[in-house]
This record gives sequence, C-alpha cells and structure tokens, in this order.
Amino acid sequence: MNCPLETRDNAQLLLDYCTRKLEPESVAILERHIALCGACREFAAGQRAVWEALDAWEAAPVSADFDRRLYGRIEAQVGWWDLLRRPFLPVVRWRGVPAMAMACLLLMAGVALQRSAVAPPPSPSDMAQVDSVQPEQVERTLDAMEMLNEFSRHVRTDSPDSKL
Ligand SMILES: [Zn+2]
Repeated sequence: MNCPLETRDNAQLLLDYCTRKLEPESVAILERHIALCGACREFAAGQRAVWEALDAWEAAPVSADFDRRLYGRIEAQVGWWDLLRRPFLPVVRWRGVPAMAMACLLLMAGVALQRSAVAPPPSPSDMAQVDSVQPEQVERTLDAMEMLNEFSRHVRTDSPDSKL
C-alpha cells in the first residue's frame, strides 16, 4: 500500500487505526506497512500515547457540597471597603505595608495631585489688595467712571469735527 502520510487518501485509514476503528483486514494491511515505514510507526506511536493518556485521565471528583459552597460565595455580600482595597492587596502583602500606611500614602498622593491641578496661590500683596477694597472705594471708582463718561460725551458734542 501507499504510505498514508504521503497520500491523503490513506490518511484517514491511519487515524482510524490509531483510534481502533479499523476492520481487522485493514489493520493487517496497515500493520504490514507500519512495520516497514518509520514515519508511520512514529505517528501511530504518538497517537496511541495521546489516546492512552486521555483514557487514563480522570477528572477529580467534585465534593458533594461544591454547588452549595459556590453559590454561597457568589451570593455573599462584599463590603465597599473590601472592593476598594482589593486591587491593592497584592502590593500590601508583597511589601508587608500595613493597610493604614497604604491609605495615608493614597491620601497624600490625592492631595499632591489636587495641588498640582489648582493654580498657584495668590501672592500676599494680591491678597492684601483684595482685602483692602472697601465699598466706599468701589463707589468712588464708579463715580469717577461716570464722570469720565460725562466728560467724553461733552467733548464729542462740543467738537463735531472729531468723529472718533
Ligand atoms: Zn508510511
């Protein structure tokens, strides 16, 4: 026969032989070829090893209360603090840093971020100016602006040549 690994027609024959689905007369023909062909011998041995391993494999038995425990854990309420600190647990365990120190570190980082995001605080002179503005000053400034407006209106009406 032609080598099953070289001709596609006989490839299924070799696979069926490995899974023991082949009729006895075909088995006899194939075994005669395998005795002569090193490639087919290697292929068949590999296939047999895989099938024997699959036959030998057995799933570990499931404990009787597996379902009950699984659903119990799924339904168990998880506190917000647990949810919050869960991402940091590996770090805390790895470094041995107490949770409180970790919380302080996070707080400091948050404050630093907030400070960097806000504009720098006003200088003392600016603050003094803001503090020293009194209602009388505002009134005087408004009066002065009104006076200037009045003045400019008079200037425009008095001199019709200036169109600015
Ligand atoms: Zn062969």
